[in-house]
Amino acid sequence: MHELAMVQNMFRIILEVADQNQLQKITRVNFEVGKMQQIVPEYFEFAFEATKENTIASEAQLSLSFIPITLKCKACNHEFTIADGAFICPKCQETDLELISGNELLIKSIEGD
Ligand SMILES: [Zn+2]
Repeated sequence: MHELAMVQNMFRIILEVADQNQLQKITRVNFEVGKMQQIVPEYFEFAFEATKENTIASEAQLSLSFIPITLKCKACNHEFTIADGAFICPKCQETDLELISGNELLIKSIEGD
């Protein structure tokens, strides 16, 4: 379960940002995660619930949105999005691909007061 380490690392940033913005309380954290990260939403949520304990985010809601995997074929420059698995260009069957997006692990926004 790599979600716990992930969430713990992100929490350091979240608390730092909250501190810089003088938030007394965090009410919501919006995450954006690329499909390449292979996150299990239930695990991520569990890690979030565990990590927020005894912090100013203890009552914060979690919002998780996924970014699809977008690839670009190095042979024909075709750009395409895949859900899972098949890392192959649908146009020319090339497997030499460049990752355009899908590897993100972002804190999109933090809400609080
Ligand atoms: Zn191609």
